Amino acid sequence: MSEQTAEVLAPREAAGAAPDYEVVVIGAGVAGIYQIKRLKDLGVRATVLEANPDLGGTWYHNRYPGARFDSESFTYGYSFSRELLDEWHWTEQFSPQPETLRYLHYVVDKFGLREHMQFDARVEAMVFDEDTDTWVLGLDDGRTITTRFVAAAVGVLSTPTLPRIEGIESFEGPAFHSFHWPHDPIDLSDKRVAVIGTGATAIQLIPEVAKEARTLTVFQRRPNWAAPLNNAPISESEMAEIRTRYDEIFATCARTPGGFEHEPDRRGFYNVSPEERRALWDRLYDAPGFAIWLRNFVEIFMDEDANAELSEYIADRIRQRVHDPVVAEKLIPKDHGFGVQRLPMETGYFEAYNRDNVELVDSTETPIVRITPTGLETTERTFEFDVIVYSTGFDAFTGGMDRIDIQGPGGRRLRDKWAEGPVTYLGLMVAGFPNLVMLGGPQGAATNFPRGLELAVDWVTPFLEYMWTHGYRRFDAEEAAEAEWFEHVKEMYEGLLLRTAKSWITGYNSNLDGHEYGKTRYNIYNGGGPKYARLLREMTENSYAGVRFR
Ligand code: NAP
Repeated sequence: MSEQTAEVLAPREAAGAAPDYEVVVIGAGVAGIYQIKRLKDLGVRATVLEANPDLGGTWYHNRYPGARFDSESFTYGYSFSRELLDEWHWTEQFSPQPETLRYLHYVVDKFGLREHMQFDARVEAMVFDEDTDTWVLGLDDGRTITTRFVAAAVGVLSTPTLPRIEGIESFEGPAFHSFHWPHDPIDLSDKRVAVIGTGATAIQLIPEVAKEARTLTVFQRRPNWAAPLNNAPISESEMAEIRTRYDEIFATCARTPGGFEHEPDRRGFYNVSPEERRALWDRLYDAPGFAIWLRNFVEIFMDEDANAELSEYIADRIRQRVHDPVVAEKLIPKDHGFGVQRLPMETGYFEAYNRDNVELVDSTETPIVRITPTGLETTERTFEFDVIVYSTGFDAFTGGMDRIDIQGPGGRRLRDKWAEGPVTYLGLMVAGFPNLVMLGGPQGAATNFPRGLELAVDWVTPFLEYMWTHGYRRFDAEEAAEAEWFEHVKEMYEGLLLRTAKSWITGYNSNLDGHEYGKTRYNIYNGGGPKYARLLREMTENSYAGVRFR
C-alpha cells in the first residue's frame, strides 16, 4: 500500500468506519485473477467472490470437446510478469481448455492469490448504502458483506441460454448446454447425439463429437461462416523464440484494433487486382487463427461488394471440402456475409459432414417442434437420441450483471436501466451506480479478451488508488459523459456491416424476451483497442473527466 493510501485507510479502519472490504472483486476468471493480484500488491483489504467451486470463469465451465481459444496462446496469456512469461510453456498455438485452466491455476498459485478468493460464493444482490457509501452484498449462502468498491468481472458469455422448445424438461437422457458439459467425461461412443445450434461453440465441438459418437445429428437454424484454425504444437525451441519476442508481441497487440498480432492489409481492396486478392486469401485461409478475418482488407467489414467477393471465395472453399453439394449449400450462409458475425474458427468442421454417422438437419426448413422423452420431433420427422447438447448461446454482456439484483441509490435497479441494452461510461462504470467498476463489461474494447481485460485492470487499479489518496469515498459517472459515450459507441456501429449481424454482438438472442432481431443492443465498442486506450488515457489525464467524486 502506498503511504498516502495507508494514511487515508488507517484512520477509517481505526474509527470502525471501514466496511468489511475496500474492494470486492466478483468473479475469479481471467479479469478477476489479475485484479486481485494488483490489489494484493497494494495491500488493501480485498477479496474475490466466485460463484463456482473453483477459479477459471469461462475456462472452469466450457469443458466440451474441442474447446480452445482462437487467440494465439502467447497473445492470450497475461503480460504483467516477465517471470511468468519465461516460465510458462504453451504447448499449442491455440491452447485447449484444460491447458488454459491449468495456466490460470498456475498463475493463482504462483502469486499466492487463492487465499484471497472465496468459492461457492454467489453474489445474489448488491444494494448501495447511501449513508456509508458502501455496497452491501447478499450472498446465496446467507452472508452479508460490505465493501467500499465492487469490481465486477462476471464475464460476458457466462449466462447460457436454453432454447424455448416445448417438452425440454421431458427428455430422459443426459441433456445439457455446452457451457455445462459434464466435468466427468461422458462416454459418447455408443450414443446417438443431437447438437442444437451452429455457433462458434458447436463448430468446435461437432468434429470432436462426430469422431466419438455412434451418430451425430446437427440441428442448424442458420449456418455460420467458419474458417480453419490451422492449429499446431509449439515445441520447446519455438517457445524459447516466442519468449524472446514477448515485448514485440504485446506491443503489436496494443497497436492493432483487435489486440492480436494480426494487422489489417491496408493496401486497399480496390487498389489490387482480383488475382492479387485471391492470392492473399489463398495464403490467409491456410494461415493460423483469425488471419483470414483480421489480416484481410479493412473494406470487407464495411463495403458490401468487397464482403460479397470474399464471401463467395470462402463459399467455394466450403464447396471443395464438403462432398455432398446439397449439404455444402446448406452450410453456406446466405443471410450475412463472411466475418460480419464473430468468426468461428474450426478444425475439420466441414469434413465432419462427410462422415457416414453425421447428419445435418435444416431447422429453418423443418423446425424443431418439441423435445420428447426419447428425442425430438421436427415438423417432418421423429428422432431418437441418447444425449442432447444445446449449444444455443448466451445472454451476452449484460446477463452476468443482470443475474445480480443490483440496486443503486434510491433503489434504482441496473437491470431496469439496461432493459433495452447496456448504457455505460467507457464500458467501465454506469451513472447512478456509484463505486462500481466493470472489468470486461459491455461497451469496453472488443479485443482479444485478456488484452482488453489487462487494460481495464490497469486503469481501475490506479483509479482506486486515486480515490484512496484523495480520501474520496464515492465516485459516480456523470449522466452527460455516459450519454456522450453511448452516442460514440452507437456511431462506431454505424459504418460497419456488423451492425446488421443477427448475433449477440447486436444483442440478438431468440431465447430471450427483448432480444429480438432489430432491437439493437450496443454491446461492444467497435473503435478498436488503441483508440479505446487513448480515450482512457485522455480521460485520466483530464482528472478523470466525466466522473464525480466526493
Ligand atoms: P452463438 O454464437 O450465439 O450460437 C448459438 C447457436 O444456437 C446459433 O447457431 C443459433 O442459431 C442457435 N440457436 C439458438 N437458439 C436456438 C433455438 N431455439 N433453436 C435452434 N437453434 C438455436 O453461441 P456460441 O456458439 O456459444 O458462441 C458465442 C460466442 O462465444 C462466440 O461468438 C465467441 O465469441 C465465443 N466463443 C469463443 C470461442 C473461442 O474463442 N474459440 C469458442 C466458442 C465460443 P441462430 O443463429 O439461428 O440464432
